[in-house]
Amino acid sequence: MDIYINKIHYPVNNLGAGTRLGIWFQGCPIRCPGCVNPDTWEAAEEYRLDYTEFINTLVNFENLQAADGVTITGGEPFAQPEALFELTRFLRNFIKGDILVYSGYAYKELKKKHAGILKAIDVLISEPFIESAGDRLLWRGSDNQKIRLLSKRAAAVYGRGIDRAEWKGRRMQFSLVGDCLYMIGIPGRGDMEKLYEYMKMRGIDCEHP
Ligand code: SF4
Repeated sequence: MDIYINKIHYPVNNLGAGTRLGIWFQGCPIRCPGCVNPDTWEAAEEYRLDYTEFINTLVNFENLQAADGVTITGGEPFAQPEALFELTRFLRNFIKGDILVYSGYAYKELKKKHAGILKAIDVLISEPFIESAGDRLLWRGSDNQKIRLLSKRAAAVYGRGIDRAEWKGRRMQFSLVGDCLYMIGIPGRGDMEKLYEYMKMRGIDCEHP
């Protein structure tokens, strides 16, 4: 089996509780207007990995065990249901922390088609991204999206803390890996344009989609 992965990164501190490992799936057929991640839409050959090799990389990934949890985002993770199913089952048995998965599909649809995956994860943030719905909440692409706690572990970790954490507002994280600067998190409307403009003023030209 193959899996299309954009990147793995640790630490991630603005896509779920605590300090997390982030896994970005590559490929998204939904194509929401205003998506801030269009570079993750195409499941291009350069992102294809053998699933077993990917798991071996993950097992050897420094900090996987130390992470407070794993966040799986994209792209659209549920666009690769077999790989997502195997990955979430593997993580369930391998890590101590929570598994949080993002999706642009509606919960009703996911429940009908992917109940097995939902059983293996702790937290689901789902529903279509709607640009006009607002962008005040830290962990959601747009304010219409819902956070669902699907396990006892999720209730213990997130419980009533979601509102408190999310109303702190948007927060971007910058990580330099080799010569590549990663921007992690969900920017507010217009934030990226402002950032590119500011960097240009400082003489830095950014490559961006
Ligand atoms: S589901 Fe997510 S990655 Fe896909 S187009 Fe919508 S916002 Fe972008």
